[in-house]
Amino acid sequence: MNSESQGLSGLKRVLGDLPGARPGGPLCVVTAGIHGNEPAGVHALRRVFATIAQGKVPLQGRFVALCGNIAGLERNARFISEDMNRVWSKERVSALRASDPARDNSEQREQRDMLAHIDADLDDPHGKVTHLDLHSTSSIGPPFTVIAGPGASRAAANHLGVPLLLGLDSVIGGTLIEHMGNLGHSTVLIEGGQNDAPSTIDHHESAVWLTLEFAGVVRSADIPELDALKARLLAGADGLPHELEIGYRHRLEPEEEFRMLPGYSNFDDVVEGQLLARSGPGFEIEVRAPWTGTLLMPRYQGQGLDGFFLGRRSTRAG
Ligand SMILES: [Zn+2]
Repeated sequence: MNSESQGLSGLKRVLGDLPGARPGGPLCVVTAGIHGNEPAGVHALRRVFATIAQGKVPLQGRFVALCGNIAGLERNARFISEDMNRVWSKERVSALRASDPARDNSEQREQRDMLAHIDADLDDPHGKVTHLDLHSTSSIGPPFTVIAGPGASRAAANHLGVPLLLGLDSVIGGTLIEHMGNLGHSTVLIEGGQNDAPSTIDHHESAVWLTLEFAGVVRSADIPELDALKARLLAGADGLPHELEIGYRHRLEPEEEFRMLPGYSNFDDVVEGQLLARSGPGFEIEVRAPWTGTLLMPRYQGQGLDGFFLGRRSTRAG
């Protein structure tokens, strides 16, 4: 038995790999724990694989789940040397492939191994590929999705029904969804809620099932309690905008002290000039909202160079 209250130890890269009924069918790849302080996705995937095994749920395609930052997950640290969700640009991936593994830092070792698995999985004969990357946030808030690449990912994100953030790729480079998008696949990141909240595991579990459905890997009729899984994911998103465009990233310097004012959550409305955080030596510098919009992913943890983001309701068509 896996206890979800225990820390994660003895993790392997491959959390599960189930073949489909026939070769050449659709492929669904789910990744979890790219950030080591976000264990909920790993717990959720364990639940889904257990349910499939117990219920003998038939698969129409292949379902692969990979673990991201194993060393980080074991220490409950977002990362050891560098953020593993900023290293997937074309340039960084090519540089990693060309570099000496003996010189890898902790995240490069993890990325090299993960890349080998992704390459091998995509090399296998397969039809349509759908990728889902499971994340969570240090602040509380409802689940939402992020896409970075071309339009193909939008349908996969909309299938989950929670608010969709557009334009992250214009403020953050090198995410894993950027890599999968560069390869032409549908790829969605979901922020499931607060890092250690039990509901975040529930949200991720729902999102995995719905993505398996979207991918054509599991038939709707074969998913146990599909309606309840959907309702659980949508419950927190009532009244929120369907799509938001990210327009601002409050970027931090590597050693910069930064502290959000207490009490902010994802999707809080803020107005231009509102005091959001303090930074610098002695936290003497006031950080105010540069414009009126929606606060996203305020940082309530010690690591990472993203203080917060601001979004506005999307005006993009479709
Ligand atoms: Zn994350």
